[in-house]
Amino acid sequence: MQVFKFGGASVSNYEKIKNVGHIVQHFPAQKMMIVISAMGKTTNALEKVTDAFFAGKKEEALQLFRAVKLQHLDEAKFLLVTHFNPLMEQYNHFFTEVEWLLHDKPVRSYDYYYDQIVCIGELLSTALVSAYLNEIGVNNQWIDVRDIFRTDDNFRDAGIDFPFTQQQVHEQIQPLFNKTNIVITQGFIGCTDENESTTLGREGSDYSAALFANMLNAQHLTIWKDVKGVMNADPKEFADAQYIGELNYDEVIEMAYYGAQVIHPKTIKPLQNKNIPLIVKCFSDPSLPGTTIHNHPVKNLPPIIVVKQNQVLLQLHTKDFSFIGEQPMSDLYEMMAKLKIKPNLIQTHAVSLQLCLDDRADKIEQLALAASVAFDVQVEKGLTLLSIRHYTNELLQKMTEGKTIELQQQSPDTVQVLMM
Ligand code: ASP
Ligand code: MG
Repeated sequence: MQVFKFGGASVSNYEKIKNVGHIVQHFPAQKMMIVISAMGKTTNALEKVTDAFFAGKKEEALQLFRAVKLQHLDEAKFLLVTHFNPLMEQYNHFFTEVEWLLHDKPVRSYDYYYDQIVCIGELLSTALVSAYLNEIGVNNQWIDVRDIFRTDDNFRDAGIDFPFTQQQVHEQIQPLFNKTNIVITQGFIGCTDENESTTLGREGSDYSAALFANMLNAQHLTIWKDVKGVMNADPKEFADAQYIGELNYDEVIEMAYYGAQVIHPKTIKPLQNKNIPLIVKCFSDPSLPGTTIHNHPVKNLPPIIVVKQNQVLLQLHTKDFSFIGEQPMSDLYEMMAKLKIKPNLIQTHAVSLQLCLDDRADKIEQLALAASVAFDVQVEKGLTLLSIRHYTNELLQKMTEGKTIELQQQSPDTVQVLMM
């Protein structure tokens, strides 16, 4: 059993979808679970539909949604002949699901509506790819993952009910492989026990694919991407970024933690737990080896560079010069947990404390306000957080030259610098 995951960029138009067909045809007679994201920038487009709807702009929401519909219909026309009409029937169900909601007035939370609307993106893309594969003779079964992935109702960041989902996979997915080699389903979405759609957090399809790999005891999880493999830095920013052929789970978790946009941070745990290798393969050239991520130590890694823009520094100083002990720390963490803020860097001193955070203006304002009861608070925006694993002093110096350093944290293998 293999699990394949194709991201939005791999299914963004009919040519890319044809390439998915070529890749899958390279693995005949292989049992395969295929997890697919929404096409291209569909998730962003559906977020805009949700914004308009929630702002009470019904006509605008419907019009934005029409554009999403048309785009899918256009691609379907290029790809399908005999499977066009059955797909339209399926599409009409999905379209009605959303339009019906858009005609209402919002009475529940933004996050709830977000999930009901945004989940359509993956349903549309997977139905199209499934129809196309059937059209070219690659028989497969499409599944609505909302019948399989049970979650809590923490909309937009829903947590998986692991035992229930495992049972569904066992009872509903596994038997399908007696009839077909290929099952196609959605990443990123799930469903509560009250039949409400949920999403698992942006870019969550990798995580869905990893859960399937775990629950189906897959040999590998292969994530098809528009890169040669994992690189030691973002090739768009660093012309001399190096390709890395092999990594271990720990390294990848660390990279994701520091903000590298390689793989969704939650992806590794379900794989590590069953020792399932993750292979990042090049979508446009499958003959390339890609990057294999596994459990064994990997030596001689190049420095791994992660740059996060739009960082905010929050400086807290106790009002009465009392020490920053356990109580203020635990109060602060409690506030952050409540606001769902994860600090990217934290440094404490006797009577002051610094936090580096992603710039989510609404949340930072709330945190600053809550903290101002016990602390004098200063906020500084527009900073860059540089993290380098396996750094050399030379590289660190080169990358911080001419910058104003606001904060620096260093261990033998990782350095982080917050700078202007
Ligand atoms: N379509 C979702 C997103 O764009 C999930 C994913 O692609 O992983 O965030
Ligand atoms: Mg994606």
